[in-house]
Formats: sequence, C-alpha cells, structure tokens
Amino acid sequence: MTGAAGFIGSHTCVDLLTAGYRVIGVDDFSNSSPHAIERIREVVGPDVAGNLDFVELDVRDGAALGKLLGGGGRGGGPVYAVVHFAARKAVGESVRMPVEYYDTNVNATLRLIEAMREHGVRRLIFSSSCSVHGNADSLPIPEEAPARPTNPYARTKWICEQILSDLCVAEPDWRVIALRYFNPVGAHPSGLLGEDPRGIPNNVMPYLQQVAVGRLAELSVFGSDYPTPDGTGIRDYIHVVDLAEGHRAAMEHLDDQTGYRVYNLGTGTGTSVLQLVAAFSEAVGRPLPYRIVGRRPGDVAELVADPRRAAEELGWRTKRGLADMCRDAWEFQRRNPGGYDGVAG
Ligand code: UDP
Repeated sequence: MTGAAGFIGSHTCVDLLTAGYRVIGVDDFSNSSPHAIERIREVVGPDVAGNLDFVELDVRDGAALGKLLGGGGRGGGPVYAVVHFAARKAVGESVRMPVEYYDTNVNATLRLIEAMREHGVRRLIFSSSCSVHGNADSLPIPEEAPARPTNPYARTKWICEQILSDLCVAEPDWRVIALRYFNPVGAHPSGLLGEDPRGIPNNVMPYLQQVAVGRLAELSVFGSDYPTPDGTGIRDYIHVVDLAEGHRAAMEHLDDQTGYRVYNLGTGTGTSVLQLVAAFSEAVGRPLPYRIVGRRPGDVAELVADPRRAAEELGWRTKRGLADMCRDAWEFQRRNPGGYDGVAG
C-alpha cells in the first residue's frame, strides 16, 4: 500500500488488517506523519499489528519499488495486489506546480506499473478522483459521464486512468480498479486516526476542525451565489471508514473481473458548505465562526456521486451519515488538537 500514512491510506490499512490481510505500507512522509503508522498499530491492537510492515520510500524510485516487490509479501509469498494512494492532491498547488504534480502522480504510477510487471504482480487498486469529471452536465454523476478535468491535479488522475485502461487492453492478465473518491471526511471512531494535513488546510472539513480547536480563527465560505438552495457549494461528503470499506470491497472483487473498471465512491447525497458548518457545529456543541467571501477559482457548484455501480458490482454501500462524519472528525481533532505531531495552535 503506497501512501499508507495518509488520511485514506491509514484508514484503509486498519480496515484491511482487521479483515485479516497482511499489509506492507509504503510512504515517504512528504505529506504525512510517521505517527500515523504507530496509530494504525494502536488501533488494530497487538495481535494484528504484526501483520503490518512498513518501508519508507518515494514511489518515484522504481529501483526501490522493484526491490520491495521482488522481496515478496509477508510470509514469503508473492504480493497479491497493490493499493496505490501515494500522490499529491491539492488543486491550487497543482496549478502553481504542475511539473511536480505530473512527476509524482503520473511518473510514480508508471514506475509502479513497471515494477509490478517485472515481479508478476498484476492486481492494482488506484486512487482516482471525482474531479476528473469537472463540471458535470447532470447530477448525480455516473462513471460514464464525460471526463473533463479542469486543473493539473485532476488531469494527472485522468491520465493515470487512461494509462491503466490502455495497459489492461494490451496486457489482459491485469486486473485494475480505479476508485473515484468524492469528498472523504471524518475519522476513525477511536479518535486515534484522522485527517492531519501539513500547513493550512485546503479542504473545508480539516479547516473547520482547526477552527473548532482554535488553531484557525474562522472558516471562509467560498461563495454564496451558486445556483444551489442556500447559494453555497454542494459536495458528496463520504466517511473515510466507508471509503476504506470500499477499498476492501474492490480488493475482494478483483478476481471476479478481468481488465479495467472504474467505480465512483460517494453517498449519493449532497451537502452544502453551510449545512456542513451547521452539522459540525452541532457535533462540537457550539456555533463555529464563518464568513462568506468570494468564490474560489476553479470550484464548481455541485458534485454528487451516483454510487449505483459500486453497489451492484462490489456490493458496497456507505453506512455512515453526516452526523457520524462530524462526530468522528471532532473526536479526532479534540484528542489531537495539534495533529499527530502536536503542532501548536
Ligand atoms: N470550501 C469553503 N471554504 C474552504 C474550503 C472549501 O467554503 O476553506 C468549499 C469549497 O468551495 C467547496 C466545498 O467547500 O464548495 C468543498 O471544498 P473542498 O476543498 O473541501 O473539496 P473539493 O470539492 O474542492 O475537492
């Protein structure tokens, strides 16, 4: 699992370990903390923690990847599958640093494919994003809606999807699932794992979490003149534990398919920024300060998943609602006000 110390990676690692998988986690900690690996071990408990190995490496380092995959899985057998989370993921940053985004997101995926091919590993679960759709013509968004990425980050994900799809045509023994995430939020209910971005958060939920613990003064709500009921942007927020379970469902489905398949992972329900602020304030027990400001360039009014394909083919559905997402996110932030590394407020 590349990107195992990240927000979605760490939760998926817990889910897979708990389900009995052995995991080799990989991360270079460029946007995550080594403490997340310790927390994964703490959450799963001592009996299961031994099924997690960890290797620090940069996924662009093809030689290191080859060495890792060539060394086989835990217990000496071959690696069964790769879950590839590691990537850069901030839209605004990608506009300023496109070369770094193409390098980390596209080149690393190519190096990974080469290393997998060299060592006979041909099952892959790839992290994609609903942002590949750009401005949707209609909602909710099914997988076959046209891809029209509007920024370098989304283009890197769309390019990787096309590479993987082409690969599966050329080499039919590959089994690849791309999962397009909508807006992952929340935290592990233990309060031990959660979202802990470095620097000032780009995304609305970690920003709100840091407002709630006083690290940030108030949320800027980007635009109240969208064609939505309250004028603020609507997104499909999905609990990160539901998302982790989606990866396990995909893993369990890999051998029932050949070639390439993409799934949208969302709830199918939209929530506006103001509804999110209200729900999070409810979880915290006091109103959180916010101010309406102008629109953020590149934002779209509304993104909501049509998750039916994942339900029908993977047997996966979300189980957790907005109140659960807010309660768990707050529990993590309350217990870790300075994040994993204890950054002062
Ligand atoms: N948003 C906001 N203030 C912030 C960050 C985000 O109002 O500080 C809004 C943003 O305009 C969008 C929604 O919250 O409508 C979700 O944005 P986020 O960056 O979390 O995810 P995105 O959907 O852009 O991937």
